[in-house]
Amino acid sequence: MPCQVEGLSLCGVGVETITLPLDRGGFCRRRCPDCQREFKVRWTEMEGRLILQHLGASIRFANLDEVARAHPLVCPYCAHRESADSFFTPAQREHLARRAESLEAEIRFEQLRHVERSLAENPYPTFLALPPAPFRASLGPEPDDMRVILLPCCEEEIKIRESWTGWIRCPYCASHVEI
Ligand SMILES: [Zn+2]
Ligand SMILES: [Zn+2]
Repeated sequence: MPCQVEGLSLCGVGVETITLPLDRGGFCRRRCPDCQREFKVRWTEMEGRLILQHLGASIRFANLDEVARAHPLVCPYCAHRESADSFFTPAQREHLARRAESLEAEIRFEQLRHVERSLAENPYPTFLALPPAPFRASLGPEPDDMRVILLPCCEEEIKIRESWTGWIRCPYCASHVEI
């Protein structure tokens, strides 16, 4: 089941669907920018807004007022705290960067088409706007690895490394959670 973010409207481009793969439990992979260990969080509307925020920051045409600010996230293993935006894996980051590029191309095309239409009276049009290639790249399926931990503090579930023992930090409120 891919997670979908719909309703992204940038300068009239219309509704876009941005997807990141989830595992069968509905979890999305994250990687600590400090210790590089991976964990997973359950996909929520907040994650969807995070993608919009990330894309918005990469697209200079985007209306940033519509884009929510990134919430901080805490690494369950090393307690490193940073904006959730920094916890994308390199593969997710690469994918979102390419999606942002293709959105920019679509926006530029719409702008050129607008110029073209307003020059329709001109008997000697000097250019023709060409539609960009459709975006087809997708990330591979998310494997069902790691084990589920219930966070009593936030009543949320996350997934951590099978081998991790002792305690973790809640990624949302930084509480100690014995496991
Ligand atoms: Zn960490
Ligand atoms: Zn918590």
